[in-house]
Amino acid sequence: MLEGCTPWPGEFVKRYVEAGYWEGRTLGEMLDEAAEKFGPREAVVGDDGTRYTYDDLKRLSDRLALHLLELGLRPKDRVLVQLLNVAEFVPLYFAMAKAGTIPVMALPQHRLHEMGFFAELTEARAYVLPVRARGFEYGQLAREVQQKAPSVQHVIYYGDDAPPGSLSLKNLLADPIEERVSLSKLAEVRPDPMEVALFQLSGGTTGVPKLIPRTHNDYIYNSRAILDVLPYSEDSAYLCMIPIAHNYPVTAGLQTMLMKGGKVVLSQSPDLDHVMKLIEKERVTVFPAVPSLLIRFLNDPGFRQHDLSSIKLIISGAQKLQPELKPKLEEAFKARLIEAFGMAEGFNCFNRLTNPLEMRLETVGLPLSPGDEVRLVDEQGRDVPAGEIGELITRGPYTLRGYYKAPEHNKTAFNDEGFYLTGDLMRRGPGGGLIVEGRRKDMINRGGEHISAEEIENLVLTHPAVHNVAVIGMPDPDLGERICAYVILRPGQSLTFQELSSFLLSKQIAKFKLPERLELASEFPLTNIGKVSKKDLREDIARRLKG
Ligand code: AMP
Repeated sequence: MLEGCTPWPGEFVKRYVEAGYWEGRTLGEMLDEAAEKFGPREAVVGDDGTRYTYDDLKRLSDRLALHLLELGLRPKDRVLVQLLNVAEFVPLYFAMAKAGTIPVMALPQHRLHEMGFFAELTEARAYVLPVRARGFEYGQLAREVQQKAPSVQHVIYYGDDAPPGSLSLKNLLADPIEERVSLSKLAEVRPDPMEVALFQLSGGTTGVPKLIPRTHNDYIYNSRAILDVLPYSEDSAYLCMIPIAHNYPVTAGLQTMLMKGGKVVLSQSPDLDHVMKLIEKERVTVFPAVPSLLIRFLNDPGFRQHDLSSIKLIISGAQKLQPELKPKLEEAFKARLIEAFGMAEGFNCFNRLTNPLEMRLETVGLPLSPGDEVRLVDEQGRDVPAGEIGELITRGPYTLRGYYKAPEHNKTAFNDEGFYLTGDLMRRGPGGGLIVEGRRKDMINRGGEHISAEEIENLVLTHPAVHNVAVIGMPDPDLGERICAYVILRPGQSLTFQELSSFLLSKQIAKFKLPERLELASEFPLTNIGKVSKKDLREDIARRLKG
């Protein structure tokens, strides 16, 4: 496994191979098998009119892989990928798997603070990004990332008028290099299925986002296991309006659709009217969403005007969906609803449609795989008595054994037996299903985007007027939580919300990480061991919001 990653111990490798979880296939081979089965069927639809069949995906990913090799990229080279939900993402994703290069799955909202860090940490050799998107010009960002990390030698732009001399993704896709260079080159670089196929990003609980290595074997298995639970077929059409780079749309959307012969419909815009039109036009059958989005859908006037009757299955995840909302949503959408629980680190829980009603309403279901080992433990790591709340710790055939190049953090994020300490507090409910009761980790869940409180605190602390800061999630009816910063100022200093926002923006962080409220304080409530009591701060802000 790539240096800086933690491999599964030999006995577990043996166990997962013998159980048939790990099949020894690469993601590239997975796509090629799908192309063989479903060749001329439609596989990917972009909202700009781009449409790819399974055959197209095979041909274009082969081609792009050859281009990557011709550029001088080598297996295990890391490549930053930061694209909107464009159809071209898909051949690029599989081209990486075929060339053995490893994409870092960044979000379009990331800025220098994040991209520079990923580039330096991974010593990335290439960067794929848009020329512009949602009013932001990315060229300057690419230059700054290259200054920070000179290892980034190749910049590949998506979109028209890329800077002179730079590479264009569309041109590479249009250039039939396979007529000049033999496809047998790809056989020479075939990655080991145990090798890292991609890096997912952790919402993180400490200073900087962590990189999650996912291997070909474990990522393919993750999707196969999801297919045991979800009723997907050749006729399924999966809508992806959250960033495609996220773990969930890749494992439960893109890869599962390709395994079954369905299609993925990509929306670049989160605009509801745009998305509803797309659902109507493409006859979307699977609608994955975070709870806040489902509620926005219901309350939008377009909900009654558009024909959304093709939707058969709603999958809610990333945030808790209140049990009482589930029947209401099923009724309003005239579709079935499944709540799923998952994390980019691996472990998933899914409810099956056949589960008893009580279990479907109250729980997030059962672990996906018989290979998942799950325990609920107290602060000392001891199993809690049946029915009580404990922290979920887990290991299994698709859950990481260590973050990339993070040995210190790994010491506390995993126990001695290799269990990942998720920080999620859970309890067993009806049918043994798990109920999410809260979290131990210091993270804010803003509409399904997870933000490390410590990362924002570290940035706020660099402001000269700030003596101390505590960042918490404040309750919000739309997004579940929004970010609130409690600040103690240095004597004689002042700080307005506007000043704090401009200061943080000057640090070039993703906008979704900006605090949306500033509370000035003269001291922080403390716990009995003298730590800042975020529980008290959360209660304080809830009181203030109620007014
Ligand atoms: P991410 O790795 O960004 O997908 O975030 C994973 C985290 O999202 C989990 O550790 C949970 O804290 C949270 N999460 C995911 N699904 C649910 C759910 N159904 N209910 C509550 N929290 C969830």
